[in-house]
Amino acid sequence: MPAANLQDVVAEIAAEMKARDDRGDVATYIPELGRVDLQQFAIAVIEKDGTLTEGGDCDSFFSIQSVSKVFTLTLALGLAGDRVWNRVGREPSGSRFNSIVQLEYEKGIPRNPFINAGAIAVTDLILSGHQPREALGEILRFMQFLSGEDSVYIDKAVAASEERTGFNNRALANFMKGFGVIDNPVEYVLGVYFHHCAIAMTCRQLAKAGSFLAHLGQNPATGHSVVTPERARRINALMLTCGHYDGSGEFAYRVGLPGKSGVGGGILAIVPGKASVAVWSPGLDASGNSHLGRIALEKLTARMGWSIFGSP
Ligand code: GLN
Repeated sequence: MPAANLQDVVAEIAAEMKARDDRGDVATYIPELGRVDLQQFAIAVIEKDGTLTEGGDCDSFFSIQSVSKVFTLTLALGLAGDRVWNRVGREPSGSRFNSIVQLEYEKGIPRNPFINAGAIAVTDLILSGHQPREALGEILRFMQFLSGEDSVYIDKAVAASEERTGFNNRALANFMKGFGVIDNPVEYVLGVYFHHCAIAMTCRQLAKAGSFLAHLGQNPATGHSVVTPERARRINALMLTCGHYDGSGEFAYRVGLPGKSGVGGGILAIVPGKASVAVWSPGLDASGNSHLGRIALEKLTARMGWSIFGSP
């Protein structure tokens, strides 16, 4: 069978996803996200040689939410190296993204850096020795640098919306603080966390930002070495096992790629050695992962033979 043409596949997926009726539900627990138009869908693929293939609403900026956790983990590993693993584990949780139950049994140490508790602990590490504004500026500049675009911004309305309603995250942070896992004042840590979740980007920008993970830590567009090959492999391993919370097994089963989702409806997926892919559709499934985003990636990997578990 001749290899499928990526442009055709992306165009077909975009057309099908725009037309489907089953779109999932927007995240209403952050009221500002509840206002996003459910009909939108976008996909962007950046290959190793820099070729960009896009479809759907690719100029729309969306709230990356928990996809930011891949980048805060990358920054924290750069700052603290393996000390990160003293305060956060590397095991899938099998629980919802905002669950508190396992924290009690594991002395306040979150199971992994991609659930809310783990990402809050990672944010605390990045914040240490800085003012919240400096830490946030560093995270935003990192995203702008990786995507090569200064228009990446923090959506203040989304951050304020979560700041008003983030009682569950406050509980997680205070609970960890009680175990001595959080060093800085809880409200500072949460302020930085809510704002980095509120980073807004297009699919093209997100795919570019994740490109280093597809190419052994090096961004092929700039030649810049962001992390070592070993670190890139390990971040991908965590994305595969933990990137979709209690839907991680299902995502690996259906899509077969390392991926990280956010409740804004974005997913970053990595095709090692080949491409970085970002999809966005704001409707979520029961685990809080983009419903059509996952279906689109499943079709993409099937058609292109891109599953890491073997191709036709
Ligand atoms: N900011 C969101 C929260 O803390 C991120 C969750 C997500 O994207 N899964 O609830």
